[in-house]
Amino acid sequence: MPEPTTPLIERPWEDVARMLDVDAALEMVLSAFSPLPPEKVPLLEAGGRVLAADVVAHDNVPPFRNSAMDGFAVCVQDIVGATWRAPVELPVAADVAAGQRRVPALEPRTAIRIMTGAPLPDGADAVVRFEETNALAPAVDGARGSVLIFRAAAPLDNVREAGEDIARGTVVARQGEALTAARLGLIASVGQDLVPVHRRPIVGILSTGNEVVPPGAALAPGMIRDSNAIVLATMAKTWGAEVRLLGIARDTVDDLTGKLDAARDVDLIVTSGGVSLGDFDFVKDVLRADGEVTIWQVRMKPGKPLAFGRIGGTPLLGVPGNPVAAAVSFLLFGRPAIARMLGNQSPPSRTIEVECGDDLDNRGQRRHYVRVRLEPADDGRLVARVAAEQGAGVLSSLAAADALLIVPEELERVAAGMRLRAVPLEW
Ligand code: AMP
Ligand code: MG
Repeated sequence: MPEPTTPLIERPWEDVARMLDVDAALEMVLSAFSPLPPEKVPLLEAGGRVLAADVVAHDNVPPFRNSAMDGFAVCVQDIVGATWRAPVELPVAADVAAGQRRVPALEPRTAIRIMTGAPLPDGADAVVRFEETNALAPAVDGARGSVLIFRAAAPLDNVREAGEDIARGTVVARQGEALTAARLGLIASVGQDLVPVHRRPIVGILSTGNEVVPPGAALAPGMIRDSNAIVLATMAKTWGAEVRLLGIARDTVDDLTGKLDAARDVDLIVTSGGVSLGDFDFVKDVLRADGEVTIWQVRMKPGKPLAFGRIGGTPLLGVPGNPVAAAVSFLLFGRPAIARMLGNQSPPSRTIEVECGDDLDNRGQRRHYVRVRLEPADDGRLVARVAAEQGAGVLSSLAAADALLIVPEELERVAAGMRLRAVPLEW
């Protein structure tokens, strides 16, 4: 372990040895959440959510043997040896289109014109594509009622068997799996139009601060506009939650208490601001009076102070007011909590390997989440370039960033060329 460069111990609240690291804090946050009860929703509302039960195929997909191509249904025995030089001529006995209910059987030494998705006639065992016949050529007089086949076929060429994609009785999607577009397609194709998923969590979002006014308000002296609420709300919605905006609380115990009381029925309250050591940082006092709450110093940057606990029975995550610290804290702790409520067994922690494009300092033994832009190099490497301004309040550099580069606590200096992990920003 590198020596601390400043005597942090003189300021007990800066004592890194007493701070939780990000992983320990996340574990404590996650232990307060479990999947919400299941509900059945229409397919269109199920995208991105997590299955609460296995889905079993009650039908085969495809449901019947059908043609994979536009062409001619034949019996392979009738076209043995067919080539471009020595085609086999067969009379065309019928046409079959997709969706056609009555399909004639194929008589020996005839062909049936057939379209993709149409049921294969009894007696046929292969389909020859139009491209391997003269069907695409202009009809010559007298040839209209027959087709020249230029190629021999093997049994089941261009034929899709019943149940080839999904056999009746198989599990097409499992409990705990996220419903991607393709999985929803499987569920639709086996005939289920309602899907059992975990209920979406409702996240209540409360901004705090005497200086904070809504985005549409005119600015009086000393005031700033609330950007945290929309940032946190958009993140929560992106991750699958429903959002309830709880407004802006003054820095008084009364106003905070009142606004939090009005939100007891949500699944998670997120407050921003008021969790540091300032004279008006009352969130912790309100929580202590009315629930169980811990204020932690987490060994991370930006975003050291973090409050977590319950008010009444409702989990509450208190992130710092500085806009970037608020967003990064919510990404690290709020996103996994939402994911767990949605039913994800292993909450998302996708990181990618990148190459550092710049030198960096990381004193203070905190895990540093550095705003970076990712620039693909010619050979496929992703090079992380530091976004210029890294202050905890500088939202413009977060807006410009593609990812957060993770500089581990114990790494004091990052040299350009090092390989580190990064959290892609997907919101
Ligand atoms: P706090 O954590 O309450 O000490 O706030 C830290 C900084 O973040 C202060 O400069 C606040 O003015 C600012 N801040 C607090 N809440 C918000 C908000 N909702 N939107 C934008 N900035 C905020
Ligand atoms: Mg404040």
